[in-house]
Amino acid sequence: MNTNRSIVHMDLDTFFVSCERLLDSKLNGKPVLIGGTSDRGVVASCSYEARTFGIHSAMPMRMAKQLCPEAIIIRGNSHIYSKYSDLVTEVIKDSVPLYEKTSVDEFYIDLTGMDKFFGCHTLASELRQKIIRETGLPISFGHSVNKTVSKIATGEAKPNNQIRIEKGTEKPFLSPLSVKKIPMVGEVTYKSLCDLGIKKIRTIQEMPLEMMAKVFGKNGVSIWKKANGIDNSPVIQYHERKSISTERTFDRDTTDVRKLESIIVAIAENLAFQLRRGNKLTSCITFKIRYSDFQTYTQQQRIPYSAADHKIIPVVKELYKKLYKRRMLVRLIGVRFSHLVEGGHQIDLFDDDEKILNLYTAMDKLRERYGDRAVMRAKGMEAKSIARWNPFNGNPPPLLANRRR
Ligand SMILES: [Mg+2]
Repeated sequence: MNTNRSIVHMDLDTFFVSCERLLDSKLNGKPVLIGGTSDRGVVASCSYEARTFGIHSAMPMRMAKQLCPEAIIIRGNSHIYSKYSDLVTEVIKDSVPLYEKTSVDEFYIDLTGMDKFFGCHTLASELRQKIIRETGLPISFGHSVNKTVSKIATGEAKPNNQIRIEKGTEKPFLSPLSVKKIPMVGEVTYKSLCDLGIKKIRTIQEMPLEMMAKVFGKNGVSIWKKANGIDNSPVIQYHERKSISTERTFDRDTTDVRKLESIIVAIAENLAFQLRRGNKLTSCITFKIRYSDFQTYTQQQRIPYSAADHKIIPVVKELYKKLYKRRMLVRLIGVRFSHLVEGGHQIDLFDDDEKILNLYTAMDKLRERYGDRAVMRAKGMEAKSIARWNPFNGNPPPLLANRRR
């Protein structure tokens, strides 16, 4: 592994809010909340003015309203955010040899080797200015030898600024920061660390690796490495993926309606899971059916952006019912989700509520851990497994529940 890497992490500041401000300058300087406007909605993005009231993203909207009654609440528009996200992506794509897009507003850029021609930091600074000039959106970056240190540095640089961590100064940079700043430390881990009196990254740096491994297992090893500024993970070139689909050809053509429906539900459920794993939302569903005489019919329907089973599966079933008209053996069925956009960690851009979000998060965690059939609709149980390679990052399918490792 090259120890002289030059990795930049760039992150747009309060992205949804910044987009809204481009469209309506009256929002400048005011506390702005974007997200589900119903009482059960959650905050998808909030301005720095709102953050001074203690509001943060993923907080229930109800609570945010209580903390800051004068906040301006906007339901948001995923089309507009996708458009601006694409614009920023274009500028980056035109300027650097290798970049990874990890969410709608976040990028890693590998500038290793570029300093033969220009200083890498100058290059990154110029790119940041170019993005601000061409899109009007504020963006911050961190620059160091790896992804973890750069990501943490971006957080320290915000809002609308940049930080460079010189090679060899990673540990002193990290040591005074809260352990919460380590990307993989979530609420639960943070609490466990605090219970052990571990609040600053310095404490982890002073601990032997074995101790972290003993208390937190494999996770502990990763946390210890990150706390010490060690991260060899590569920047993986980003390719826009516009659709995902699954087709099933039957061994023997069938007219078994129960079996057909079961497979269709299982396919739709699995594709929706894939969407959520890739942080994507779809707005177009296509259903395809081929009869034993090879006549093929397809029909599609636009829907509001979603990755939620309860929004998507009924549409797939409806399309199937519309298309399955001939009393003839069926040879193949297929489901495709297209017009994909980045969805951050949402499943229904502006209709998320806490209960539904928690339900899907719990279901997907089970699948990641125990396989794609660990939890599923009763309706789809007759179908064989449809585990697949992650279409967004090329990772292998989650372990099958019915297979022992
Ligand atoms: Mg951001």
